[in-house]
Amino acid sequence: MMGQWDVAIERALQNNIPRVEQILSENPYILDLAREIRETKLAVLEHLDDYVQKTIRAVERTGGRAYLARDAEEARKIVDDIIGERKRVVFSKSNVAYEVGLREHLVSRGLDAWETDLGEYLIQLTGEPPAHIVFPALHMPKEAVGDLLNRFLNGAVNSGSTHEEMVAAVRSFLMEKYMKAQVGITGANAVAADTGSVALLENEGNIRMDTVVPEVHIAITGIDKIVPTLHDAMKELIVQAAYGGLYPPSYINISSGPSSTADIELKRVSPATGPREFHVILLDNGRSMANRDPGLREALLCIKCGRCYFSCPVYRVMGASWGDPPYGGPMGAMWSAIIKGDYRQANLCTHSGGCRDVCPVGIDIPRVLEYIKWRSVSHE
Ligand code: SF4
Repeated sequence: MMGQWDVAIERALQNNIPRVEQILSENPYILDLAREIRETKLAVLEHLDDYVQKTIRAVERTGGRAYLARDAEEARKIVDDIIGERKRVVFSKSNVAYEVGLREHLVSRGLDAWETDLGEYLIQLTGEPPAHIVFPALHMPKEAVGDLLNRFLNGAVNSGSTHEEMVAAVRSFLMEKYMKAQVGITGANAVAADTGSVALLENEGNIRMDTVVPEVHIAITGIDKIVPTLHDAMKELIVQAAYGGLYPPSYINISSGPSSTADIELKRVSPATGPREFHVILLDNGRSMANRDPGLREALLCIKCGRCYFSCPVYRVMGASWGDPPYGGPMGAMWSAIIKGDYRQANLCTHSGGCRDVCPVGIDIPRVLEYIKWRSVSHE
């Protein structure tokens, strides 16, 4: 008999793999963009410190504030200082926010903090780790989602409800949270060093709400997300959307500084209708160390598209129990070593090579994992 994970992964594979293949065959230019991104990111890694400083200066030129956080604790402290006495926070899905334990931290301080990405909202309700870097609630079949929402949304839906009814029930819960939120926290799919812009990709519309309705927008992301130009950032968004099976994306959001207007005598005034504050937190947390290590550096090219999970036999069996959340699957075995110094996750890799074949930026994941295995043995 199939368990819940078997049902969920089977449905996810059926829905996602043919869709991505169709997107790529209909839009072959995306394969060229992916190759260009690899070269661009390699060039950034050669001068990563310079790009971090360039990005910080660019954010401040647009009226924002930028910070370099060495580790998770420093990132949480920066966020605490920005938020001050404010109490109501909405999150859009951010793997780096998860990496530093930000939501739990804010909730433990008594703040009303809610995830607004549907999958991440389900994860918040269950308290379980995410099962995938792009689709965090992938492990939950529809019936389980219905049961969960039935408990948390006062019976508005149940296990027999349709997908549409469940989405509508969550939408009406979250709409109230958006309208009252004082702070919106997002990640970044890419950060442009030339303009200081944060580029975000989505289909739900929640990121638009999180970045525009609250008076403060905080974007927290890794230094590996920096690309030289806004043009490069747009290329990366298109590739991420395609490899996630979400092409064309419903929305692309670019945030460059707080809201402003020049509609009265062309004098620029800030804020306008949107946020009055724009903050970008660039997290290191092991990334510089990995960049200095020739065996790990290639992992920093990862654009977190999540494609490698589905071609991996180990992930298909183990699901969320492989890796250090939010980083799982083949990419997570690499990132667990970078972020947590956890070299053991790589030992589960069977070297089938499927991940390498589908990775848009051509990371030789088995080779990186082989290196990590060697490190784990040589450091014992
Ligand atoms: S390792 Fe490659 S396929 Fe896997 S998430 Fe990163 S970019 Fe995507």
